[in-house]
Amino acid sequence: MRIASRLYYSAGIVILLFSGVAASAADQTIVLKAARIFDGKSKSLIPNGVIVVQGDKIVDMGSNVAVPSDAKVIDLGDMTLSPGFMDAHTHLTLDFSGDFNKRRLEQLDLNISEQAIRAVGYARTTVEAGFTTVRDVGSRFVSSREFVDVALRNAINKGVIVGPRMLVATKGIGATGGHFDPTGGFRDFLFGREPDYTDGIANGPDEVRKAVRFEVKNGADVIKAAVSGGVLSLADEVDTPQFTPAEMVALVDESHRLRKKVAVHCHGDQAAREAIEAGVDSIEHGSFMKPQTVALLKQKGTFLTPTLMASEYIMSKIDQYPPTLQAKAREATAARSEMFRNAVKMGVRISFGTDAAVFPHGQNAKEFALMIGLGMAAIDALKSATSNDAELLGIAQKVGTLEKGKLADIIAMPGDPIADITVTERVSFVMKEGKIIRNGSPSMQAAAESTNITDITAPVD
Ligand SMILES: [Zn+2]
Repeated sequence: MRIASRLYYSAGIVILLFSGVAASAADQTIVLKAARIFDGKSKSLIPNGVIVVQGDKIVDMGSNVAVPSDAKVIDLGDMTLSPGFMDAHTHLTLDFSGDFNKRRLEQLDLNISEQAIRAVGYARTTVEAGFTTVRDVGSRFVSSREFVDVALRNAINKGVIVGPRMLVATKGIGATGGHFDPTGGFRDFLFGREPDYTDGIANGPDEVRKAVRFEVKNGADVIKAAVSGGVLSLADEVDTPQFTPAEMVALVDESHRLRKKVAVHCHGDQAAREAIEAGVDSIEHGSFMKPQTVALLKQKGTFLTPTLMASEYIMSKIDQYPPTLQAKAREATAARSEMFRNAVKMGVRISFGTDAAVFPHGQNAKEFALMIGLGMAAIDALKSATSNDAELLGIAQKVGTLEKGKLADIIAMPGDPIADITVTERVSFVMKEGKIIRNGSPSMQAAAESTNITDITAPVD
């Protein structure tokens, strides 16, 4: 009885303490100061940057703006403040970097719950690298009904774990034997049945609509489809079209009716042309797009998400992939550099996306240097990862730029990213919705995650 009442009493104090902390954190005004601000939209950086944050929002920002007297000031010195970076193409629940065959076997060995637990670390590493928002475009586990990306997103939103804001696609949609068929390359009927719409496999316009509805029902924020072959799939050619124009029209129409955007995995030129005509919101990869197709992209205002990091990483350890995939990777990488240069020259809307999971999570910012190496201006590459991605994701009213009233997703990197874009790879301050996730060294968990990081060399042409 006595012990019980004492426990009750201490619990009461703990609750009081915690609520006290919570109340003061909500009211506390935080001022971030740094030598420069990249605001997500301007043509140049703003000197002597000051950002005033109250609760989860930015209440003032600019050069030398007044600091409220009661504010907690964090002076970051010779750094650049930026809107939190976004990555429009991740797979936070997966990791197929490293030895391809080992990973393929691991997919079958590991329980889905163990893979989900690993994803918690990938999410943490990603946000600590400065990526406060991701569009996660496909979370497939062969012969499983689990929606791990939805669970990860929800756990982050509820504050159970730390990670980026996620817009998820669930399984993605593709054709039998196509890039998204999870049983492709395995012995026939190894898993007992052919995958169907519940696995994201659909054939014919009606089934495509059914798959879209099924994924939205289960929590998809965005619809992802594979409309051409891919590099890391064993049963298809990299550039063949895998949906008919009628299937693509059904895909886009059904998704847009349900107010979801459509991102399509597409390397091939014909599939890209048909997808752009059907009205998709972004072409992912786009490796073999001819100049006329890139021009069509420009004319329609469709985004290109180039994912240069994916081919860069695969090429850096090409010997570790089966020969058929090596040939596909070589072909796609050789084509994508010219395609990307054309897209930059033509002024196509370029969104920042990396295909994280093909390479170890947390290295997303290496995409910046690759973009610049292929002709993009540094300021435009920075905009692609902030305001452009916010527009593509449909969340530009809340995030993507540093402005009064926007959510306080703010990161800082050392020095000047215009002078040296690789400083984006050394983000050391991360705030998401007004809460500081990192100020200085990475957390133990993120540091442990990044031990398997291999270095990527200069752009492959
Ligand atoms: Zn991908």
